[in-house]
Amino acid sequence: MNAIAIDGPAASGKSTVGFLVGQSLGFLFFDTGVMYRAVAWAIQDRGISSTDSETVGRMAEELPIGVSAPSSEEPDGRQATIQIGELDVTWSIRSPEVDRIVSVVAANSQVRQALTQKQRLIGLEHGSGEAGVVMVGRDIGTVVLPEAPLKIYLEAPIEERARRRFLELSQRGKDVKLARILEDMRVRDLIDSERAVAPLRPAQDAHEIQTYGATIQEVVEQILLLAEKVFGVGPVSCGKEDISSEGSSGIALV
Ligand code: C5P
Repeated sequence: MNAIAIDGPAASGKSTVGFLVGQSLGFLFFDTGVMYRAVAWAIQDRGISSTDSETVGRMAEELPIGVSAPSSEEPDGRQATIQIGELDVTWSIRSPEVDRIVSVVAANSQVRQALTQKQRLIGLEHGSGEAGVVMVGRDIGTVVLPEAPLKIYLEAPIEERARRRFLELSQRGKDVKLARILEDMRVRDLIDSERAVAPLRPAQDAHEIQTYGATIQEVVEQILLLAEKVFGVGPVSCGKEDISSEGSSGIALV
């Protein structure tokens, strides 16, 4: 099976690194966090409380979440286009308000059951295909795709992760405070690590990589070296243009 599972806490570098690894190997990239974020955004939009487990669980089962490769008319730095029905929610699911409730939504066992099932199907379909898949999240190596031959767990100190998220949100024009982001992240880490179902933790056979003090390229190269050992494949020859094009490593359609 050609599958790489990348897990780790918020802003540990999973999607940046996972996306580039996928591009280098010609593997499909799939960020599972967007599905939890889409459900969190939808309940907020409809005025549903994140603690109303039954309604939130039903929402996860029924919400028409679409994930697709960005078109050339969307050159705004997105890795994928996320839709709920026809509505483009790519950036709205990344708001600090969604950050604040998404972990409560993701701790709901009905939500996890619905989304894990869809994610596993995507992982199996693409991981057993020729192209392969890079899946990122919190429980890919432990629950969604435990048979992935290469598992990575990315780490970074919480202060550094909060700083990264602060920069990301500020660059998108959000008026945010570092101290508030740090506090929200502490709460999110705690809920993600201590929930009863599929808590955040490295799989026993995961390679743990510290991303603090390393460049993105160094982390990507470390993973590519491991991939070469495990799958016997090196980077596909791609120029810079290929990184922004859809190429063979597209984005999964949910
Ligand atoms: O990765 P990202 O920060 O976008 O994920 C948002 C939230 O979704 C996480 O804080 C976590 O609560 C949840 N999540 C999860 N399992 C995954 C991916 C994300 O519980 N596989």
